[in-house]
Amino acid sequence: MSDRTLNLDDKLYRYVLDHSVREHPSQAALREATRNHPHSGMQISPEQGQFMALLVKLMGARKTIEIGVFTGYSALAVALALPEDGQVLACDISDEYTRIGKPFWTQAGVAHKIDLRLQPALTTLDQRIAEGAKGQYDFAFIDADKGSYDAYYERCLTLVRAGGLITIDNVLWSGKVAGPADSEDTAAIQALNDKLHHDERIDLSLLPVGDGLTLARKR
Ligand code: SAM
Ligand code: CA
Repeated sequence: MSDRTLNLDDKLYRYVLDHSVREHPSQAALREATRNHPHSGMQISPEQGQFMALLVKLMGARKTIEIGVFTGYSALAVALALPEDGQVLACDISDEYTRIGKPFWTQAGVAHKIDLRLQPALTTLDQRIAEGAKGQYDFAFIDADKGSYDAYYERCLTLVRAGGLITIDNVLWSGKVAGPADSEDTAAIQALNDKLHHDERIDLSLLPVGDGLTLARKR
């Protein structure tokens, strides 16, 4: 027995999936449709999607932000957890990726909750701030280009209400954050992790879920 997080081998990971994941049929179908995509590894895992959906429900979130949509799995997971009048402000720059997911949003009956903005996420976030949306959002998920993570975090901190939650993906970066910065992406994630550790504006938890998921609750 150890108090450390277990290293999951394939058998134990399979057990976790088999004993917890409850995907909507459209989520399973979207996962299947993304399986052979050259960048399929960018998609979050089903257990992470389910965890984020649970957070959204626990918070009673209604207005959410997603930065980095890809083929739309995380947006679908969150949209399914939202009430009928809930919203995902979904930011991406790729029509090619996001068009793969749209039919599955429709199939699941949640397309009306997902407001996809195809332009650099910083432009969309700055537009919302300029439109007076400060403090209006309950939940945000940051999962796009790593070099802009700090800028996304600062915008989200402005847009999220006190008590709202910012979640940040890939904060362990395949373990590379614990070594020397081998790339600009690694350095950007390391710098953000360092900053958040002492950021008095938030309550913090860095979870070894997937590739590392930070939860930052705005104070
Ligand atoms: N959350 C997604 C999922 O679960 O399937 C995965 C997102 S993927 C890791 C990163 C996405 O960020 C890509 O779809 C890419 O097009 C998008 N992206 C890259 N640079 C961006 C930018 N400047 N603004 C908005 N999106 C960007
Ligand atoms: Ca990711």
